[in-house]
Amino acid sequence: MADMKAYAKKVLAGIEAKDPDQKEFQNTAKEILQSIIPVLEAHPEYKEEKLLERFFEPERVVMFRVPWVDDKGELQVNRGFRVQMNSAIGPYKGGLRFHPSVNLSILKFLATEQILKNALSGLPIGGGKGGSDFDPKGKSDNEVMRFCQSFMTELYRHIGADIDVPAGDIGVGGREIGYLYGQYKRITGLYEGVLTGKGLTFGGSLARTEATGYGLLYFTSNVLRDAGIDIKDKTVVVSGAGNVAIYAIEKAQQMGAKVVTCSDSSGYVYDPDGIDLALVKDIKEVRRARIKEYVKKHKKAEYHEGCKGVWNVPCDIALPCATQNELDLDAAKELVKNGVKVVCEGANMPSTLDAIAYFQKHKVKFGPAKAANAGGVSVSALEMSQNSERLSWTFEEVDNYLKRIMDDIYKKTTAACEEYGAKGDLLAGANMAGFVKVANAMHAQGWV
Ligand code: NDP
Repeated sequence: MADMKAYAKKVLAGIEAKDPDQKEFQNTAKEILQSIIPVLEAHPEYKEEKLLERFFEPERVVMFRVPWVDDKGELQVNRGFRVQMNSAIGPYKGGLRFHPSVNLSILKFLATEQILKNALSGLPIGGGKGGSDFDPKGKSDNEVMRFCQSFMTELYRHIGADIDVPAGDIGVGGREIGYLYGQYKRITGLYEGVLTGKGLTFGGSLARTEATGYGLLYFTSNVLRDAGIDIKDKTVVVSGAGNVAIYAIEKAQQMGAKVVTCSDSSGYVYDPDGIDLALVKDIKEVRRARIKEYVKKHKKAEYHEGCKGVWNVPCDIALPCATQNELDLDAAKELVKNGVKVVCEGANMPSTLDAIAYFQKHKVKFGPAKAANAGGVSVSALEMSQNSERLSWTFEEVDNYLKRIMDDIYKKTTAACEEYGAKGDLLAGANMAGFVKVANAMHAQGWV
């Protein structure tokens, strides 16, 4: 054990020395390395083959200039990225994020998470992530289109239906995917499944929009069942008001839970009567406005500036669905004090490492992002399948498949917990189950 702990420690020190400024990437490496020691013990060949060193080094990173012209005729320049992290089990797959905070550290963290998540899905997809520091907020449709066209004018040469298949993420929804796809097709002349999350009239899959949020609830149902909790009438706190949050709220409500919050990066809404989802969709999906507008219509609801306060609302189940590091130790303490029983992550790494440790110490059931939010990428892979066979499946077919995948991810995760002596630690289980699959594929493919 000591030998493998030392190996993991050495790998982490190497990452910290090589990229001292990449804190998010270091955090994800630390989280994974801490939990896979039993797997390393069972596979001494991984150390001999420097498998960890290879795992944490991207196969390729592309960084490029994105010039575009705004509505005033002024030239703007953003930075674009694609991190092709690991293709051991399939073409690189992972979203594009457009947000001012985007940098290489965040994308390497997300791409690394994506490797394990995609492995857990059971589908043949590798790990990647990309994006830009471009902020679509407040931009006109024409500006977003010109940006997307410029972004794709470089990206197209690095991707392809069997090479790398990007999708959406924060700031990249159906509108952006449409513009990106149009430009890819225009440059290459290919009508192929090179992006997922496409519109339904040009190769998109039914249930892709709902997939991450619905999948989160399918996973959470497994956690609740094993904890002997019925979701009906339970109070749920959700953060975010984007794609993941909206469809998590929708499925939670369909299952009979009472969701009392949602938020955006300005503040959060608390509605004691339960969130009016049609209104949230209208504000965020149709009008692209701020969530504070919610209280204009619902007089009993409250709007609070700042998003952290959402974790002070008492609940049985908490579903962070906004962004990384949104739930810190203070928030975890507040949730535990107010009696939270289950926390499942819809966003990528929303809980800080000390918040997770606090949940686990206080016996709160914790569903980690790479398992709990794998529904989005899973249905993206189903979209790739439909594009390859040039067929479209019904909503029910895709939704049933999604449910089976999420149930299976939960089973694989808990099985790994049992096998490697980490009972109840779903984070360790997800890391180990995902890692073994990728590591074995890397081992079989030689030193590449
Ligand atoms: P959206 O852009 O649709 O929504 C993001 C939401 O989070 C918005 O409400 C946004 O508010 C809020 N938000 C963004 N940045 C911050 C911040 N710094 N602080 C507080 N709130 C913030 O993105 P998605 O719903 O697609 O993604 C949400 C999370 O889920 C991300 O972590 C993403 O990586 C993850 N995810 C998404 C998948 C998908 O299929 N879409 C799949 C798997 C994971 P505002 O409107 O003010 O910006």
